[in-house]
Amino acid sequence: MEQGTIIKVSGPLVVAEGMNEAKMYDVVRVSEKKLIGEVIELRGDQASIQVYEETGGLGPGEPVFSTGEPLSVELGPGLIRSIYDGIQRPLNVIWEQVGDYITRGVDVPALDREKKWAFQPSSLKVGDEVSPGDILGTVQETPTVVHKILVPPGLQGVVEEIKGGEWTVEETVARIKTASGVEEVNMLQRWPVRKERPYREKISPDVPLITGQRVVDAFFPVAKGGTACVPGPFGSGKTVLQHALAKWCDAEIIVYCGCGERGNEMTDVLMEFPELDDPRTGDKLINRTVMVANTSNMPVAAREASIYTAITIAEYFRDMGYSVALMADSTSRWAEAMREMSGRLEEMPGEEGYPAYLPTRAAQFYERAGRVKCLGSDSREGALSVIGAVSPPGGDLSDPVVQATLKVVQVFWSLEDWLAYERHFPAINWLSSYSLYIDNLEEYFRREVAEDWADMRKGALKILQQEAELKEIARLVGVDALSPQDRLTLDTAKSLREDFLHQNAFHEVDTYTSFAKQYRMLRAILLFHNQAQKAFQDGMEFKKLASLPVKEEIARMKYIPEDKIQTFDRLEEKIKTQMMDN
Ligand code: ADP
Repeated sequence: MEQGTIIKVSGPLVVAEGMNEAKMYDVVRVSEKKLIGEVIELRGDQASIQVYEETGGLGPGEPVFSTGEPLSVELGPGLIRSIYDGIQRPLNVIWEQVGDYITRGVDVPALDREKKWAFQPSSLKVGDEVSPGDILGTVQETPTVVHKILVPPGLQGVVEEIKGGEWTVEETVARIKTASGVEEVNMLQRWPVRKERPYREKISPDVPLITGQRVVDAFFPVAKGGTACVPGPFGSGKTVLQHALAKWCDAEIIVYCGCGERGNEMTDVLMEFPELDDPRTGDKLINRTVMVANTSNMPVAAREASIYTAITIAEYFRDMGYSVALMADSTSRWAEAMREMSGRLEEMPGEEGYPAYLPTRAAQFYERAGRVKCLGSDSREGALSVIGAVSPPGGDLSDPVVQATLKVVQVFWSLEDWLAYERHFPAINWLSSYSLYIDNLEEYFRREVAEDWADMRKGALKILQQEAELKEIARLVGVDALSPQDRLTLDTAKSLREDFLHQNAFHEVDTYTSFAKQYRMLRAILLFHNQAQKAFQDGMEFKKLASLPVKEEIARMKYIPEDKIQTFDRLEEKIKTQMMDN
């Protein structure tokens, strides 16, 4: 329906008049080319429209058509394995049809309309009462993912029919009698991306997202449904870390949202990510992944929409009762898109030209993470964990985007390039990183890992902090001037760094460490420390320490499969006897 007329075009911003009927965040189609745009400001009958496609050649006088709908995504079978752009156009399908460059105004539905899916009804019977979130049936979407078809939000009634069989996403799979008539339910839902999807209630984030990465799990854990932030200076190992997390974290579904700085970078991600092996299933990771990506030939504005598109898709899988991990890389690009639009709207700039509402937007985004009781009568739980990467210019952490992010996320993994130069991987600085979930997770660790896990963690971190101070002193007076106890602290810290924190993502055993094995490793290092302290009191000389064969055994633990690690008692016995022998 024709609605208004363009009066001004400024890059991705189009201003149109005659827009009295428009609502904020309505999607409009701009000009006869039907470019996709979103209303982001209304003043009188004038609307400012953020256009998600190249606006070159547009000019005043051209029409703007309303759709009367907010920017929404399609949700249903077919999401997994898809690669979408910021407004959910299926890039893999478009590439096949029109090649690398997306012609303007292309209209390809996000979910395939032809493909038939085998819908397996749940145990619901005719006459059963259903409400939003109840499971109508399932579709085996990929070898790894069972897609649950839920009663959509807002629909309540009595089952009249559920039809098993092969259906497209638009065909009816169930009929539900509601107070206002019979509703035909299919497998396709639409949801406005800027609106959080409903759940019953949030629950305390007191279970860790287990990643098998020792520095993360043991020292700076993130909760399931939690939020984390990671900066990634070039060459710091961010990609390797992201891949390791995606492969190993105990989330069933991965949503990867990428905005690359340079064109190639995103293309690399799009090529590499789908090819990653999925160690849990022996299959490819793409079979439980949805990707949202902005390649360089897309206008900046599309980046702004992309993280909302991604998180809405992630929420949809959370609603099925899955643990979902969303990785957004990099949210700095998203904030920059916001800055650009804000500049063109001539809003009052805040710090570094970012709009004053940047912190609010960042908070609203991360607040959509969480562990929840889903809608639906089976009281299932779902979790959406968000790991946001930031890329401040020059690695400067006082950057407004970093600061706005750190105010809302609970975990900070301080990835630093100097550690990478020293080949300390993952290059996460143990002194400046933090996790605010520690108190929440303590009970879990006590129950599932060990009674003394929390104390061990504290002890190990303390030794690493002491190392930093002692190194300063040693620089002034020389290592030899330190007491044996202090030299032992330095020695143990080195062991913690090299034998525990160093983790080779490419070694078949070292790439993943269970909590049980992490506990054994940490305990062995700390036991060695404690026994050595005693031995020094009994007069052991410092230089003897390095020659103890058990040290080598501790260092090799990370390469030994969990089931082959000798039991503690034997290792502990060895530590004790070798100390006494000396
Ligand atoms: P970035 O994406 O930050 O530019 P990469 O993730 O590509 O950097 O990492 C650069 C290189 O660092 C990798 O090619 C690899 O050699 C090394 N590296 C990073 N992390 C690890 C790790 N956990 N184990 C072993 N090598 C690593």
